[in-house]
Amino acid sequence: MWFLIDYRDERGKSIEEHENYPPFGDWSSCSPGYASREELIKGQGIPLEPCKECGEPFGTNYVESTKARQLEHNLCFGCLLWTERMNDPINNPDRYLIAEHKFYSIADENMKGPRGFGGSRWTFKRISDDKIITSTNVWYGGDIPEHFWDRIPDTATIIRE
Ligand SMILES: [Zn+2]
Repeated sequence: MWFLIDYRDERGKSIEEHENYPPFGDWSSCSPGYASREELIKGQGIPLEPCKECGEPFGTNYVESTKARQLEHNLCFGCLLWTERMNDPINNPDRYLIAEHKFYSIADENMKGPRGFGGSRWTFKRISDDKIITSTNVWYGGDIPEHFWDRIPDTATIIRE
């Protein structure tokens, strides 16, 4: 029997027992497997208390600065990320937009190198002032988990031509 953290579900992160390792083909969607629950908890640095946002057990095997913030705030990686990004669209509304519960960054239009979404053209309408924002350098920053929707609301709509 193998013990692991299952990361597939967006709220996932449950400690699970599986007969085989990896249990579902995709290695990237679970932690390494351990022979016992105790070894999993030790090996993945899982604190005793679950994440205070999503209530799930979480690993802390990240770079030291991330791990320190996780332990300070008692948050899993995903909930820490969204807690720290929460004010970006407020502090920098020209650069960060939330639309359809997804996080988008508008990068410099004149930047050299690879472009977000392969350089395709996006048009947003900002909710606060109806400003139209167009860009060919939009970057996707992830889906906002449902338990953050009230604190990270949409700030724009996507205009599809
Ligand atoms: Zn969490």
